[in-house]
Amino acid sequence: MPLYRDQGVVLRTHKLGEADRIITVLTRTLGKVRTVGKGVRRTKSRFGARLEPGMLIDLQCYEGRTLDTVTQAETVEPWGDVIARDYDAWTAANAVLETCDRLTEEREPALQQYLLVTGALRSLAGKEHDPRLVLDAYLLRALAIAGWAPSFHDCARCGAQGPHRAFHIVSGGAVCPVCRPPGSAAPAPETLRLLAALLAGDWAIADASDPRHRREGSGLTSAFLQWHLERGVRSLRMVER
Ligand SMILES: [Zn+2]
Repeated sequence: MPLYRDQGVVLRTHKLGEADRIITVLTRTLGKVRTVGKGVRRTKSRFGARLEPGMLIDLQCYEGRTLDTVTQAETVEPWGDVIARDYDAWTAANAVLETCDRLTEEREPALQQYLLVTGALRSLAGKEHDPRLVLDAYLLRALAIAGWAPSFHDCARCGAQGPHRAFHIVSGGAVCPVCRPPGSAAPAPETLRLLAALLAGDWAIADASDPRHRREGSGLTSAFLQWHLERGVRSLRMVER
């Protein structure tokens, strides 16, 4: 059986039989892999605690026909452990990990998504910004990588130069007065500026933003995400918004 080694983020785990666990990992080079951690739910397990969501690990596996088997796992960054001590960071991380799982395919290299998810977890563990801002920045950029970049300035339909007042999820973002479909939202201009800053990674603007605009921006970001993903992201409901 072929053996491989890669670095990866544990996206989720679920129980398998009495003592095993299936561990879904987004690896740096191979993309998403599903592996079996044998005996990891036993207290004596050598690497059980390393195979928890949000941990960055160095992983060695045997390739199987349907599932691979973990033979070695070393912690590279214990982000999952650190984040689990802070409720707001933890709920944000769960939504990040679930979204990442939904936006990646098994055995399809996804380096950009990998860099994005590791960046978000590093930021949450380091308490660099409000966890909700980190989450929204992650969601907007993950959608952009998936090919669904929202527009917060120019008209998403005709490209007319913004800023525009109206915002329409289905159209892809800001819309000009001519294109504006009925039922468009009219968020505060500051909210659209905040979302544009989060998408661009402009943290000076994002950190200085008003809680009101953060809340409104989170609502638009969630709606945008739910529109593009068939089933909703369940963990988002746990994030206080
Ligand atoms: Zn237009």
